[in-house]
Amino acid sequence: MDVAGLRAEFPILGATSRGQPLHWLDNASTTQKPRAVLDAVHGFSSSWNANIHRGVYEFSERASLAYDGTRETVARFLGTGDPNEIVFTRGTTESINLVAHGFLAPGATVLVSEMEHHANIVPWQLAGARTVPIPVTDRGELDLEAAARLLAEGPALLAVVHVSNALGTINPIAELVRMATAHGVPVLVDGAQAVGHFPVDVAALGCDFYCFSGHKLFGPTGVGVLWARRAHLEAMRPYQGGGDMIDIVGFDRTTFAPVPHRFEAGTPNISGVIGLDAAIRWVMAHDRDAWAAHEEALFADALAAVREIPGLRLLAEPRERVAVLTFTMDGAHPHDIASILDGEGVCIRAGHHCTQPLHRRLDVGASARASFAPYNDASDVAALVRGLRRVQELFG
Ligand code: PMP
Repeated sequence: MDVAGLRAEFPILGATSRGQPLHWLDNASTTQKPRAVLDAVHGFSSSWNANIHRGVYEFSERASLAYDGTRETVARFLGTGDPNEIVFTRGTTESINLVAHGFLAPGATVLVSEMEHHANIVPWQLAGARTVPIPVTDRGELDLEAAARLLAEGPALLAVVHVSNALGTINPIAELVRMATAHGVPVLVDGAQAVGHFPVDVAALGCDFYCFSGHKLFGPTGVGVLWARRAHLEAMRPYQGGGDMIDIVGFDRTTFAPVPHRFEAGTPNISGVIGLDAAIRWVMAHDRDAWAAHEEALFADALAAVREIPGLRLLAEPRERVAVLTFTMDGAHPHDIASILDGEGVCIRAGHHCTQPLHRRLDVGASARASFAPYNDASDVAALVRGLRRVQELFG
């Protein structure tokens, strides 16, 4: 794989941080954006900016076509034939909130897991549901026997993460869907961390809802997707009201636009959707198997090197996982680790990674996490390991 060529597509990777060359290893938090995305957003904003679905003039028509045309790009990306099953949101968080408020009956039980991001716990609770967790094993995998038992109790929904942002675990979604379907339980998948690492096909997974964010897929912030089966969308209550989501408005009664428009109240993130279109096209034009093999090789090198560092402990070791390295170090708080690395231009995440229940389960208050993307290279791994050795010298 031509990593140097890939890196050259990302202007920010030539930047410095704290006076050092940038080593971006916080890709699970957000990914950097290639020139194709930056140019698409800038081109729209500087040359044909207009609101959608309103004007009859050329720019508005063009913006509307680009915005709605992105549904076709996303549908292709997710393996669904119906672009009208694609709802644009602010991101994974808003996608889950939309389902929580539009799909669930009050008092419903939602089966989640101990490894969920807070975005897949709190929205259900705010919508009046009870969240029941599938346990996580010491390895950092879902306990599938417990999942089977809990599914048999007939929750209203199974809402589960595809790839854990904290551990990198890839959950067996197709298997979970088969188990859930046997009990008539619909399945929502939080795909925030999956879509950037491997192709996702919602038809093959068999799930009912799939959510992701643009900014973890080399796209802009403030834009994301909810995919749902058409029948679910047709049955769901609108989550927010306003312009563009209505059919006829009266003071005693209002009727709504067809799906997906009834779930997109107000002026949406038009430039974000245009940037998302560019990001997805850009991803699909690359060899994703080569990306995955490259990430895997970097991860293996990083893993071998950090295993040599005394006092460094991996938080878990799932068998199926993406390139996410999460650990603690004796004598050093994760914030100390991240601060020392920051001085070397290495950006990693420290804290609970919005997974407090998982950290309680694994009996640590916080951890440090380095997460990889295809544009990372051997110099990033070397800088990470150099920094961690320095942490060990200072705190170990
Ligand atoms: N779920 C997972 C697994 C995540 O990693 C994240 C982002 N860290 C979210 C949900 C929320 O995504 P966003 O903040 O883009 O809405």
